[in-house]
Amino acid sequence: MKNILDYTLEELKFWMKENGESVFRSKQVFDWIYKGIYNFDDMKNLPLVTKQKLKDNFYFSLPEVVKQCKSKDGDTFKFLFKYKDGNIIESVVMKYKHGNSICVSTQVGCRMGCKFCASTLGGMVRNLTPGEILGEILVAGRETKERISNIVMMGSGEPLDNFENILKFLEIVNSPNGLNIGQRHITLSTCGVVPKIIELADKNFQITLAISLHAPNDEMRKNIMPIAYKYTIEELLKACRYYIEKTNRRITFEYALVKGVNDGIEHAEELSSILKGMLCHVNLIPVNEIKENALRKSSPEDVKKFSNILLRNGIETTIRREMGADIEAACGQLRRSYLEDKNKIKEV
Ligand code: SAH
Repeated sequence: MKNILDYTLEELKFWMKENGESVFRSKQVFDWIYKGIYNFDDMKNLPLVTKQKLKDNFYFSLPEVVKQCKSKDGDTFKFLFKYKDGNIIESVVMKYKHGNSICVSTQVGCRMGCKFCASTLGGMVRNLTPGEILGEILVAGRETKERISNIVMMGSGEPLDNFENILKFLEIVNSPNGLNIGQRHITLSTCGVVPKIIELADKNFQITLAISLHAPNDEMRKNIMPIAYKYTIEELLKACRYYIEKTNRRITFEYALVKGVNDGIEHAEELSSILKGMLCHVNLIPVNEIKENALRKSSPEDVKKFSNILLRNGIETTIRREMGADIEAACGQLRRSYLEDKNKIKEV
């Protein structure tokens, strides 16, 4: 038995053909799914025998909502989802004037080991399948009753460490018969898996690539991001230039500002010099403090100073608005506190 949500339209067409069904049935099935019908019996225009074949081969697996929180201002929703095997992940929906964004998790946990990140503390448990990532969007949409128009892969996990599933997920959400979310409304964020960035560039997609840079030189980056031991910033930026050349898309560099670590004036100058002339945008984020480490966020004045230097050097820069801080909306925090609470209960 397979989760039908893992299937692209093309794969389902292939399945129909192999099973003696007309390929147009796959489009009908897709139409029902994206109308929110997760039950073959209710797919009214399918013949009984087709329904039976589908039931014999597929199930619908949507994550269960374990916990749901809404920020006081009502702009941010946080979900803790549980999959069939008991694994817990989190997703966040953010309401903006230009539409609603969902931040999805792509793995249970993460093995990248970034020092500031809560998602990676327990290591990587497993990859999420395309249908499981899609499930985050379907259930979050159902629960918030909002149309979700943008997707950012900035939840737990490293999307380029789950590449094949992400490609399929992109195909499904992008499909006019699926969620029909345009590639330009999708952002993939990576800590910088260089060979996969090159592979992604060769796909010629129009998705936005966000790079978690967080440091202006290798020495400092190695201190906070183990991936820096594998690929230098020079190699990373070369891959980024290739991505821009192939896709003509502007790259976003994320830079979490940590007090006394990477937030000095000299770091802003160094960052400006390595990014100069690139089609890019820097997103400054005062680091989200987590209790498991001693990293503290830069003061608002230092953030402003840092930003001004970049701007003065001609680098497009924004300071990320912090949303949902009151509901632990950042990067694996909610899952962690949930798992900790559960362990506490077990210990008693
Ligand atoms: N693995 C991918 C995507 C998930 S993390 C990546 O590394 O990009 C999404 C973003 O949140 C990344 O930029 C990550 O560096 C950042 N992040 C993680 N923990 C953070 C924290 N405590 N404060 C601020 N940003 C954080």
